[in-house]
Amino acid sequence: MRLIFLGPPGAGKGTQAAIIAASFGVPHISTGEILRTHVGEETDLGQKAKDYMAQGELVPDQLILDMVEHRLEESDAQNGWILDGFPRNISQADFVAALILKVDREAKNSIGDLKVINLDVPDQILVERLLARGRKDDHEEVIRHRLQVYREQTAPLINYYLDRNQLQSINGNRSMDEITQELKQVVSA
Ligand code: ADP
Repeated sequence: MRLIFLGPPGAGKGTQAAIIAASFGVPHISTGEILRTHVGEETDLGQKAKDYMAQGELVPDQLILDMVEHRLEESDAQNGWILDGFPRNISQADFVAALILKVDREAKNSIGDLKVINLDVPDQILVERLLARGRKDDHEEVIRHRLQVYREQTAPLINYYLDRNQLQSINGNRSMDEITQELKQVVSA
C-alpha cells in the first residue's frame, strides 16, 4: 500500500490516516508530527523549522525532502506507507514520484501503485475545526494563512494527481465512521 492523504488543514487527514494505517499494518507518516517532535526535542532540524511552522508557512523543501527520504528508508516502511501532510507542493510530489520509480526499479515485487485520497471539506468547517483543536499554531490568523498556503501551493496537487489518474476525492464533511468506511473501500479496490 502506498497512500497519500491530501486535503486542507483540518480536513481530518491525520485521524483517518492513523485508522487506515493501523487497519492495513503500514506506518502512518505525518510530516507535521515528525516536525513537531523535532521542535520539541530542539534538534537542528527543529530549530530551523520552528518559525515557519508557527507562522503557517511551509518548511523549506530542502529540509523536508531529506526527512521524508530517511523515514521511507526505515524497515517498517518497506511494504508500504501512508503519507499525511506530504507532498504539499509540486516539487515535493515530483520527489515522491521519483522515489517510487527508483524503489520499483530495484525491487523484486511491487508494493503497489500510488493512490492519493483528497479529503474534501468546506473552508468554514475547517476554520471551526481548527479553532476547536487549539494546537499551538491554531490561532485564527495563522489558520487563515495556512489555508491560503494550502490553496496556493497544495491544492494544485489535486489536478496533478487527477492528470495521473491517481486521485480519489472523498467527502470529508461527514461522521468519522462514514469516512473511514468509504476509505477502506477505496483503498482495497
Ligand atoms: P495541518 O493540520 O495544518 O495540515 P500538519 O501537522 O500537517 O498540520 O503541519 C503543520 C506544519 O508543519 C505546517 O503548517 C508546515 O509549517 C509544516 N509542514 C508539515 N508538512 C510539511 C511539508 N510537507 N512541507 C513543508 N512544511 C510542512
